[in-house]
Amino acid sequence: MFLKSIAPNPIPVIKADAYGHGLAPVSRTLARAGASCFAVGTVDEAVALRQVPFGGEIISLLGPVTKEDYKKIKAYGITPFIYTWEQMACLAKAAKAAEAAEYIKNNNSNRQISIALKFDTGMARLGFTENDVPELIHKLGSMPHVRVKMVCSHLATADDPEAREFVLTQGKKFDAICLSLRKGGMTFARVLVNSAGILAYPELHFDGQRPGISLYGSNPFWGTRWEAKGQGLLPAMEVMAPILSIHELARGQTISYGQTFTAPRDMQVAIVACGYADNYSRSLSNKGWMLVHGKRAPVIGRVCMQLTAIDITHIPQARPGDQVYVLGGQGKERILPEELARWWGTITYEVFCLLGQNNRVYENSS
Ligand SMILES: *Cc1c(COP(=O)(O)O)cnc(C)c1O
Repeated sequence: MFLKSIAPNPIPVIKADAYGHGLAPVSRTLARAGASCFAVGTVDEAVALRQVPFGGEIISLLGPVTKEDYKKIKAYGITPFIYTWEQMACLAKAAKAAEAAEYIKNNNSNRQISIALKFDTGMARLGFTENDVPELIHKLGSMPHVRVKMVCSHLATADDPEAREFVLTQGKKFDAICLSLRKGGMTFARVLVNSAGILAYPELHFDGQRPGISLYGSNPFWGTRWEAKGQGLLPAMEVMAPILSIHELARGQTISYGQTFTAPRDMQVAIVACGYADNYSRSLSNKGWMLVHGKRAPVIGRVCMQLTAIDITHIPQARPGDQVYVLGGQGKERILPEELARWWGTITYEVFCLLGQNNRVYENSS
């Protein structure tokens, strides 16, 4: 609701299994909240979303990669990102095949292939550039069965308050590209911003916006001077694991592989059923924290494949079988995705994608 109040025409990004939250449940929840168009990554993800089922528009951010992808785009009515001349050539072929089919002769314009043209305005990853505009206008002019529904680009630094100039430069380039295409006779929606762009650059909202990480409740500005811009966001994912056993660790004893932790005093230690095989990264060794009965307990020693040790000396009520929060928590104290990401040495996107691969239980939130 918070996001909807800021982004007038959101296209929720639910790629990578909705950032590890689950494609089907997330798309259903967002569709109930009014979403009529989604962006996923691969064409196969788009097909999976169609089969949820979802009847609205589906954008594939990676666009067609294989020959099969072009068939699926037509068969399932998917709108792919198009960003190379090779893709344009394959599209032309696919469009000709469609032209040969009876329904096109009958002038059924629903059979047009919709595409989103992707431009590089500073990310230098995928995309046509402003130099390609004249040829694009020319080529697309001879492809009546391909319809450019959307023109897109992606911001590289929207989450960094110190990189405002670069964002605005990308915005100007994008605007100029869209103007040239419109002068060339095209009509389409302009879509530039991601979550951070939505929150910090209302002047770049154009006709549609692509929120991703903010949908899942992570603040792209956490820890920066713009933190307040994302303060209404609540993380959707919580991760729990049970305590398997509790034992003493005497002063001077070491714990876990490699003896990387030596007890500075007599301690109570809990062994938690969670490790790097559950995507709780080994880089959290001696760095991470978990939440036990509302209190923080530090990871001690190396994270193992399916086990991690934590210091619970200050939490005497802990018992084997108790659930420990790896992410989230009850009441006031909680492990934020941003904190977990910092201990981990990564970003919340990766935390969600990886931890989300574990068994999931869905709760209806109010
Ligand atoms: C993932 C992605 C987004 C969403 O970005 P967030 O930072 O998660 O909001 C938007 N656009 C494209 C092209 C993406 O790949």
